[in-house]
Amino acid sequence: MNHKPRIVIIGAGISGMSAACHLSRMGFEVTVFEKNEQPGGRIDFFESSGFAFDMGPSWYWMPNVFERFYETFGYKTSDFYQLIPLDPGFEIVFEENKSFPVWKNLEQLYEEFEKTEPGSAEKFEQYLKKSKKIYEVAMGDMVYKPYLSLLDFIDPQAFNPVLIKSVFTTVSKEVRKLFKHPHLRQLLEFPVIFLGSTADKIPALYHLMNYAAFVEGTWYPEGGMYQIAKAFETIAKDLGVQFFYNTPVKKLVLEGNLVKGVHIDNDYIQADAVLSSADYVFTEKLLPKSYRNYDESYWEKRTFAPSALLFYLGIDKPLPKLRHHTLFFDADFESHIAKVYNTHQWPENPLFYVSATSKTDKSVAPPDKENLVILVPISVEIEENEENIDAIYHNIISRLEKFSGESIAPHVVFKKHVAKKHFINRYNSFKGNAYGLANTLMQTAIFKPKMKNHKIKNLFYTGQLTVPGPGVPPCIISGEIAAGLIQNFLNLHYE
Ligand SMILES: Cc1cc2nc3c(=O)[nH]c(=O)nc-3n(C[C@H](O)[C@H](O)[C@H](O)COP(=O)(O)OP(=O)(O)OC[C@H]3O[C@@H](n4cnc5c(N)ncnc54)[C@H](O)[C@@H]3O)c2cc1C
Repeated sequence: MNHKPRIVIIGAGISGMSAACHLSRMGFEVTVFEKNEQPGGRIDFFESSGFAFDMGPSWYWMPNVFERFYETFGYKTSDFYQLIPLDPGFEIVFEENKSFPVWKNLEQLYEEFEKTEPGSAEKFEQYLKKSKKIYEVAMGDMVYKPYLSLLDFIDPQAFNPVLIKSVFTTVSKEVRKLFKHPHLRQLLEFPVIFLGSTADKIPALYHLMNYAAFVEGTWYPEGGMYQIAKAFETIAKDLGVQFFYNTPVKKLVLEGNLVKGVHIDNDYIQADAVLSSADYVFTEKLLPKSYRNYDESYWEKRTFAPSALLFYLGIDKPLPKLRHHTLFFDADFESHIAKVYNTHQWPENPLFYVSATSKTDKSVAPPDKENLVILVPISVEIEENEENIDAIYHNIISRLEKFSGESIAPHVVFKKHVAKKHFINRYNSFKGNAYGLANTLMQTAIFKPKMKNHKIKNLFYTGQLTVPGPGVPPCIISGEIAAGLIQNFLNLHYE
């Protein structure tokens, strides 16, 4: 080959931008086509009426994964944003407005445990020691593997007894063995909800999330999560990556068992390899059926993470009782979860989560005002319906009023909501899933949709639907793994 190999990346989400940086550093010419007007994908952002809102992720966990990425390219996190430790990291509100703050200081947190269930502090300390071991093994070399075959398990670390044991039991079983009090159980089962399922279906391997949440802590990038998207775009551009926004890829052009390029509007762009960071199912639909890795029945049998109903509210007064992150578990947990995963109904009295970044950051709301993002998990099978959404809004506002002891409804000066259709229209998301596949045992590592197309040698996939899974840190890692696979392919075929 006498030209620099060109790689086309579909989508400027975090996995696509991570891959773009790595591939550019490896010496390839990299072009990213993004259907929307800005980078970040689900790390989405808008401003209105003086309020700024992060539309998607709001929890900054595993800061070392971000730092590792920035260091690879000669930067530090602080070159892009200040990381603020949150204390408490978050708070859970249980019934009768009893709240449980998750303090940054472990001694203080042990005291909260002891107050809730005598004798639990020591058990929690032991539990964290065990979670640390799992975290260290799983987040070491293991998480940076593509899991294309069983060979990826041939690693001395994979035979670590702590890890093996943690694969064959669930988060819920282990937590329930140790703690009796329902609040402690819910507290320790909540972080895996990010993995798109309930703790009774998630392998105990994911105790690592609790280590991240309780020991490493919850952080906030000043200016909001969108600063991450801006940082990744800046690094990529400095490395020479070209970005084209408002430019959806419409078709993959095949020749034999190779993809030769992509169509965007009426233009054809040649490529030596294509990496898609768009939703996996959507990417497959750009291919003739016989070239897809998985057919429709495969996707129908998967368990997807929920979709989400999100309200973005500007409030014209401070709400002193709310924290930066508050989870409202003051409703029946089982009933909401059943509506998300089994009966696919709108919850009347939902569990919900409120993010108020204005508690930490003065730049995201006018003085003495709050910007609230409220998230309600909903089924991916649900039909979007304004009547139900309105009922949920009123239910939540009245519960927030009760909790905060403040009148809120008349103080809402900005209001917007999005739900399932937003995920489908804005990100080409399958069924409007918010964060990919649930990380159940049978949908973890080797069982995840593969990063390589089986029939088209130079087509690759990255992002939350493949390894390692959903969440901003895993997607950063996913981009790095995909870049390695593409480098191997190009070196093998074009040298
Ligand atoms: C509401 C919500 C809350 C979340 N909370 C957290 C959290 O607190 N912490 C956390 O770590 N993670 C969180 N996550 C998960 C995290 O945001 C995602 O796992 C991650 O951002 C996904 O990145 P990605 O690169 O896989 O995909 P995406 O972000 O979806 O990027 C894919 C990109 O491809 C583009 N695209 C699609 N089709 C085309 C096309 N035809 N041509 C060109 N471009 C195309 C899309 O527009 C998009 O920009 C949350 C997600 C959501 C939705």
